[in-house]
Amino acid sequence: MLGDQILQLLKQEIPQIEYERYIRQLRYDEEASRSDIAHFYAPNPLVARWVKTRYGEKIAHLFEVKTGVKPQVVVEVQNRVKSASVAKGSEYSESTAAKPASKSTILNPSYTFESFVVGSSNQFAYTAALRVAEKPGEQYNPLFIYGGAGLGKTHLLHAIGNFNLQRGRQVIFTSLEQFMNQFTHHLRNHTMDRFRDKFRSCDILLLDDIQFLSRKEETQKELFHTFNELHGAGKQIVMTSDQHPKKIAGLEERLRSRFEWGLIVDIQPPELETKIAIIKKKCELNGIHIDNDIVNYIAAKMGNNIREIEGIIIQLNAYANMMNQAITMEFAKNVIKNQLKERSENITIDDIVKVVSKELNVKPSEIKSKSRARKIVEARRIVIFLARSLTPNSMPSLAQYFGMKDHTAVSHAMKKIHEIMDKDETFKAKIEELSHKITSISVE
Ligand code: ADP
Ligand code: MG
Repeated sequence: MLGDQILQLLKQEIPQIEYERYIRQLRYDEEASRSDIAHFYAPNPLVARWVKTRYGEKIAHLFEVKTGVKPQVVVEVQNRVKSASVAKGSEYSESTAAKPASKSTILNPSYTFESFVVGSSNQFAYTAALRVAEKPGEQYNPLFIYGGAGLGKTHLLHAIGNFNLQRGRQVIFTSLEQFMNQFTHHLRNHTMDRFRDKFRSCDILLLDDIQFLSRKEETQKELFHTFNELHGAGKQIVMTSDQHPKKIAGLEERLRSRFEWGLIVDIQPPELETKIAIIKKKCELNGIHIDNDIVNYIAAKMGNNIREIEGIIIQLNAYANMMNQAITMEFAKNVIKNQLKERSENITIDDIVKVVSKELNVKPSEIKSKSRARKIVEARRIVIFLARSLTPNSMPSLAQYFGMKDHTAVSHAMKKIHEIMDKDETFKAKIEELSHKITSISVE
């Protein structure tokens, strides 16, 4: 189970005695957990409180590294006496974290401007974020940051939040998903006043992963009003997305145009030197030692997703602690090889269709149809080509997926793509980019 895997990872990172005394006693509750809530039970309040305050942040971080989502960690006391009369007034019968605190105000204290490594790929976004943090609501409002997975968008959002929390400003951080969940919750309970009070009374609203607004009409409407209210009052809004606002499908025009009122900045994949600098920084901040040649090797071998690179560092460190020895090149090579292998095993044809259809602006259903329209035929061929190199599917199984007569149609499609790649450098680069997008998505 995921929760147990996380505790195993934690085991490698903390003193054994701590593990034995506290962590070993935890029980992960899969049913009560969701992607944004990790639920554990502890045998008594002491353990619950200790784990929560001392390791809550670390556990949340490990989940994030593993799944891409940072959950709220809840540690409840098991077999709590439910009866109110007993629970009341008795300190120990209370759960230490019965209710997760409002997640929207929770910031990761380690995501700061100081811990963010600046290179040419992210300089513009960094500078804009810093400017906004220093003078919220004054210059770039809203600030819209977009870019691929694991490139530091959420980190910058938290950095703006942390910077302003220290200065006593009201900061709300929320993912679009949480915003939407809270919205529906309050709507259902007829408590929209509370929802509006909350979101319209902050100085800075940080909205993560706004691409999920796509086709959510009611949420868009609510956000539109929230936006107007805050913007009109000179409050700062910062958003992130994996796409430029123009490319978010199913977004109301009036919202889109508002997103473009301020400044739009992108984060590009890091160059090799920046990747190396980030690895070194992460090691330094976590007190991990990795030799330079191993750092260079990781940077060169791994893709651009920094979250994934962090995962490697954590694994290497866990190993070193466990074996009580330095991290060797041989082990680094093994860990990376396994991770890359695991990744390719998990890619499906559907993942590929999803990415290709989005990038080439055709519908997934069109790719899977028998349409002979040029654009669609090309998209279909690209999917076939990528599926052959990124998944273990054979030509006959691909033919079956696309409802083709037999594998000769698949091999024809492959031949066509090879031909174009041979004479068209831009096309070849596009295919490489697509391939990269697909492999980085599948580890999320
Ligand atoms: P995104 O939101 O763009 O998917 P995140 O902000 O979650 O990416 O970043 C993923 C991980 O990579 C985080 O742990 C973050 O601290 C780290 N990271 C990304 N870019 C940088 C950077 N330039 N300097 C330091 N850490 C970075
Ligand atoms: Mg993010």
